[in-house]
Amino acid sequence: PQQTQQPPQPQLSTTVTETTPTTRIEEIKSVKSQRVATHSHIKGLGLLENGTASNIADGLVGQCKAREAAGIVTELIKSKKMAGKALLLAGPPGTGKTALALAISQELGTKVPFCPMVGSEVYSSEVKKTEILMENFRRSIGLRVKEIKEVYEGEVTEITPEETDNPLGGYGKTIAHVVIGLKTTKGTKQLKLDPTIYESIQKEKITVGDVIYIEANSGSVKRVGRSDFYATEHDLEAEEYVPLPKGEVFKKKDIIQDVTLHDLDLANAKPQGGQDIMSMMGQMMKPKKTEITEKLRLEINKIVNRYIEQGVAELVPGVLFIDEVHMLDIECFSYLNRALESTLAPIVVFATNRGNCVIKGTDNDIQSPHGIPVDLLDRLMIIRTLPYNYNEIVQILTIRASIENHKIDDEALMYLAEIGNTASLRYAIQLLTPASILSKTYSRPSITKEDIEEVTSLFNDAKTSAKLLEQNKSKYLY
Ligand code: ATP
Repeated sequence: PQQTQQPPQPQLSTTVTETTPTTRIEEIKSVKSQRVATHSHIKGLGLLENGTASNIADGLVGQCKAREAAGIVTELIKSKKMAGKALLLAGPPGTGKTALALAISQELGTKVPFCPMVGSEVYSSEVKKTEILMENFRRSIGLRVKEIKEVYEGEVTEITPEETDNPLGGYGKTIAHVVIGLKTTKGTKQLKLDPTIYESIQKEKITVGDVIYIEANSGSVKRVGRSDFYATEHDLEAEEYVPLPKGEVFKKKDIIQDVTLHDLDLANAKPQGGQDIMSMMGQMMKPKKTEITEKLRLEINKIVNRYIEQGVAELVPGVLFIDEVHMLDIECFSYLNRALESTLAPIVVFATNRGNCVIKGTDNDIQSPHGIPVDLLDRLMIIRTLPYNYNEIVQILTIRASIENHKIDDEALMYLAEIGNTASLRYAIQLLTPASILSKTYSRPSITKEDIEEVTSLFNDAKTSAKLLEQNKSKYLY
């Protein structure tokens, strides 16, 4: 790659510049990760060598037929036979559709992006529906970039933030720069770096004694052997900072970075608004809004394709999971039909708990199975998920309780499983944390049946709520 041919620059900036815009590869934490938290116990499809499902494995319980079918789909994806097709998981709420989609992405490999969304997310008064779909498509496509980089590597001997008066003339002080002492094989150096580095150092809890490395041409700092982090574009550049010694031979390191196309879009999008004082002030008050244009995406695609051709980067198609697919409208479906054909397409997994229903946005309210137009349905492989029996619910609750560190006694577990059986599994799982809070309030060592009873008297499940509405409809408006 280009970087290795460049002599080390005094300003340690710019990674993979080829054309405008500058492509900077940064790790940006996905806001979607919270949604995956309830599935943290799922590690894979739990299949044996011959493709059959063990009853409990990899965090999954039962649902054996669907898991085996998902295993076959995983094989099709691996052998690149799913191009232009997608998967539909059809089954009642809480039957593990999201869990299965996540398991497929885990079977495809570690670091394969998994991007969950709900059909209704496309309806926003500010952003076009297809734009939201496109963004999620790009969140689901990973890129593994391999580069040999020249780095400074050493042990941190000093971290000294230096303050200055507030540049806007207000009260208080801000950090002007941070001096980092780095003990390298060639002796100790002092590096004077941008304040944002200091923020990252604090965030990552880097302290004296940690071994870190700083990339020569990209301006990123990482901790050796521990979680990586990247600094922003300006971290190591401005000329007034002491440049790193020129011409010195750094260590060479084979660096692998996993990013998604959306990360690249974001990292290269320009903050909205001008550079005048008012809009800069506005950006300080509100988090920066960035605009990702079609042109920018095309540029990024071009660069990405070039890197793939050069063997520097490898595409890692992930899984885009669209729950409540019946909430999408005909415009979204026609967009998806086209997008599935693209060479830069992720594996799309739809899910629904609806039978025949209206395709949203059609003139004469056309009905179709799952509310999906037949031309798209034709491209789908459909897997059914079935409701769990009582024992399976007990098993799933046991796994969730242990992963969330809740102690629950047997009587309470059985009682909660009954609730899961009559209300829904998701409701039963959701009761675990409030019940645990109650048991702690009563200084009990574990969740008891009384805790569950108390918590169910406070929170209704969806079915009970609907029943109560029906019974008391005269008391509500309309
Ligand atoms: P919905 O239609 O409401 O979106 P869903 O079918 O996607 O529901 P999930 O969200 O996957 O259901 O399941 C609800 C909870 O139960 C999650 O915490 C999930 O991880 C867990 N779960 C579901 N099925 C299984 C299973 N077979 N094994 C272990 N955990 C499961």
